[in-house]
Amino acid sequence: MPVTVAIIGAGPSGFYTADVLLKSGLDYSIDIIDRIPAPYGLIRYGVAPDHQTTKNVSRAFEKTALRDEVQYFGNVELGRDVTLDELKSFYDVVVLAVGARLDKRLGIPGEDLKGVYGSVEFVNWYNGHPDCWNLDPDLNVDSAVVVGNGNVAIDVARVLVKNRQEMAHSDLPEYAVAAIEASQLSDVYMCGRRGPVEAKFTNVELREMGELEICTPVIDPAILSDEVTGEWSDRDRRLREKNLGTLKGFAEIEPGDRPKRVHFQFFSSPVEILGDERVEAVRFERTRLEDGRTVGTGEHFEIPCGLVVAAIGSQSEAVDGVPFDDQQGIVVNTDGWVGDNVYAVGWVMRGSTGVISTNRNDAVQVADQIGEKFPEGSKPGRSALESLLAERKIRRVSFEDWKSIEAVEIANAPEGAPRRKFVSIEEMLGALS
Ligand code: NAP
Repeated sequence: MPVTVAIIGAGPSGFYTADVLLKSGLDYSIDIIDRIPAPYGLIRYGVAPDHQTTKNVSRAFEKTALRDEVQYFGNVELGRDVTLDELKSFYDVVVLAVGARLDKRLGIPGEDLKGVYGSVEFVNWYNGHPDCWNLDPDLNVDSAVVVGNGNVAIDVARVLVKNRQEMAHSDLPEYAVAAIEASQLSDVYMCGRRGPVEAKFTNVELREMGELEICTPVIDPAILSDEVTGEWSDRDRRLREKNLGTLKGFAEIEPGDRPKRVHFQFFSSPVEILGDERVEAVRFERTRLEDGRTVGTGEHFEIPCGLVVAAIGSQSEAVDGVPFDDQQGIVVNTDGWVGDNVYAVGWVMRGSTGVISTNRNDAVQVADQIGEKFPEGSKPGRSALESLLAERKIRRVSFEDWKSIEAVEIANAPEGAPRRKFVSIEEMLGALS
């Protein structure tokens, strides 16, 4: 009898886990469950809409989903439609691969003013996520502050300053293209609390900021050191040297007649968001580094702006019935084992770090443990879940259903674009009827 596995979450960590289990040579029956009809999680809703090649990994995931041993249960939500206890009793193994869908909080006054967003909700807005497509951020602003110096901060800044033509080959929904096109936004301030050497963005992403049609990167060359100092691995040092070189190149770019600017602002830690109802400015404290740590200098300054996106990382939502580490925003686990027959992979297991393929390492780690602990299956798995969903009248979206939805998205694509996304669950289900 195959070992029955329920994987909760159809993003990269979920699909890599299914793939690694199937390649182990052991006998598995795997159901991948997602609360949204569309699969692929972060690939569809996190990866930037103008980074379509990064999304190509979903083709490999599709092959996994089409395997005989695998079934997809879209539009089925853990906690709402089925509980963890039920899944634990139906399946030999349950794997939590639910990602990190909540924004980390800055924890400073003014964070709840209108016009202040976390990057998860803002990125989900421009990626047409069912939770956020109707966020309707007011882009009728002259300047924006993006807090953070990671790749998400770069994504957000770039999407805000690209024009329609630059997005023609993306799957940015029309409402977002139109809102960005109509915006008079001219200045985006990307603010890191540490220096250019410590910034977390990778070099390919940084370089793109110098290749935009209507936007110029701006940086004060005086802030750029001649060399990378500090303790770094060889790999990290090379990356930082590259970033430093790229930023130096930015300092020499002539703005020409490009109407928009992204300002790289370092050593700036936000201390308060100012405004009555809406954000009007962000107050920062100038910082310096002491032994790699950020310390405040006591010097403050303000950047006026009408929009703030805090791109400072994300955390998972607590899962009912599973111990949760509030500090780190992950489920408590030991190398992916949570307790009983429950495991965790990806960002819910280790936090929101790493690139998409990093999730494969988690999958290997957990698949090894599952293989050792569950050589044989004893629970019914799929048939029990199907009966429960039928009894509760839950409209499960199968992978075949998803392919039908996707076919309509592709047929509806504007010229040059890969698809026009359905953004609400109703629309997706409507495409099936
Ligand atoms: P990240 O790389 O961890 O960057 C978070 C940034 O926020 C850092 O600059 C961090 O500064 C800053 N920060 C954290 N707390 C802060 C606070 N309270 N005040 C001010 N700044 C604060 O996270 P991310 O950008 O969300 O990305 C998540 C993961 O996805 C990363 O591994 C990233 O590389 C990956 N990703 C990759 C791509 C790509 O490959 N194209 C695209 C998007 C995301 P400190 O460094 O000082 O802590």
